[in-house]
Amino acid sequence: MDTHHHLRDNPEQCRDILAQLNDYLDGELAEALCRELEQHLAECPDCRTVYDTLSHTIHIYRALRDTPAELPQEVEERLIRRITISLNAG
Ligand SMILES: [Zn+2]
Repeated sequence: MDTHHHLRDNPEQCRDILAQLNDYLDGELAEALCRELEQHLAECPDCRTVYDTLSHTIHIYRALRDTPAELPQEVEERLIRRITISLNAG
């Protein structure tokens, strides 16, 4: 495994990271995976943008509901789709 390989040339890893973002934000991701994810976010501006957007959306949603809640699946799917499209376009 070449860890120095440029992450932006590795959209599959980005897809893995994005798939784990919800668990990460829910605090349900295993610690080792959290560190992997955080390292990827530090090195990948695309995924960091997604993370910022998603965490912001969840924050707003929870504030509006005033109760801890999961992001509605419909919203989540729309977000992921938009993100995937922009990643593929970039
Ligand atoms: Zn990435």
